[in-house]
Amino acid sequence: MVTDDADANAPKSYPSAGPMPMLGLGTWQNEEPEQCVESVRTALEMGYRHVDTAQIYENETAVGEGIERAGVDREDVFLATKIWSSNLAPEDVLKTARESLDRLGVEYVDLLYVHWPARAYDPEGTLEAFTELHEEGLIENVGVSNFLPEQLAEAVAVSDVPILANQVELHPLLQQADIREACASHDVEVVAYSPLARGGVFDQPVVQDIADEHDVSEVQVSLAWLREKGVTAIPKATSKAHIRDNWESLSLELSADEIDAIDAIETDERQVDPGFAPWN
Ligand code: NAP
Repeated sequence: MVTDDADANAPKSYPSAGPMPMLGLGTWQNEEPEQCVESVRTALEMGYRHVDTAQIYENETAVGEGIERAGVDREDVFLATKIWSSNLAPEDVLKTARESLDRLGVEYVDLLYVHWPARAYDPEGTLEAFTELHEEGLIENVGVSNFLPEQLAEAVAVSDVPILANQVELHPLLQQADIREACASHDVEVVAYSPLARGGVFDQPVVQDIADEHDVSEVQVSLAWLREKGVTAIPKATSKAHIRDNWESLSLELSADEIDAIDAIETDERQVDPGFAPWN
């Protein structure tokens, strides 16, 4: 079912990075089940076709219910989940991926990520289990998340299935040039998490000026900049107003000068920084 929302706010096009629509809905901390169901349903009815969840978010059941309730065909939705770092031993990957599919109520996911290269992560063993899931048709693509360039190179070398994407924190306040370069060199897509810097983009003066110029939110500027960089973004939004504001970023085009001005922001402001992160 497509509602009037989709028509009223339809972007001129909905770009994709390979099989992956370049704007998705993030769901971390969208934990109250009915709210999460409604956020996912609202986004899909507005036109989103990419939803990001993870075992650790404890909302896979609600995400699956939201897809079901939206009434879009399963095969039209790009659904991604992530195996938590304590479940990365091969036998746990095989077992808990099936549990994720059961919770989501689907027969396959479009993308299964290694959530962090930490704890039980062992490149060969973990990625061999991902390959087995791929051969069984339970996952369409393999992804990694929070991988530094050297870990990405290792994963690319040992995985029998190509690595589709590396999901990392990325926004105007943390531009991750080295990771973007490494991904490009391995033909791996970049997915930006916390693409709004969890609200931090509202306080960035360069982003503020560009937003004023276009009479749009700072959030839209951040998302448009990511898209211009060829990066897929998965902003988390709960309310319909936020979901719509983010969707409308697809219609925002920045000038070369505006992109250069954002490129020149030199901060390194990280929002997600657990002790087990590979950079710590
Ligand atoms: P984010 O998307 O940068 O920011 C989310 C915050 O921005 C929420 O408080 C949200 O509020 C607010 N917001 C959303 N749209 C807005 C708008 N148009 N105007 C004003 N405020 C707006 O942060 P994130 O949740 O950390 O990252 C996004 C997604 O990336 C996550 O949900 C998750 O799926 C993924 N992620 C992955 C990892 C990883 O390790 N792989 C780590 C972090 C995140 P409301 O909820 O009230 O709308």
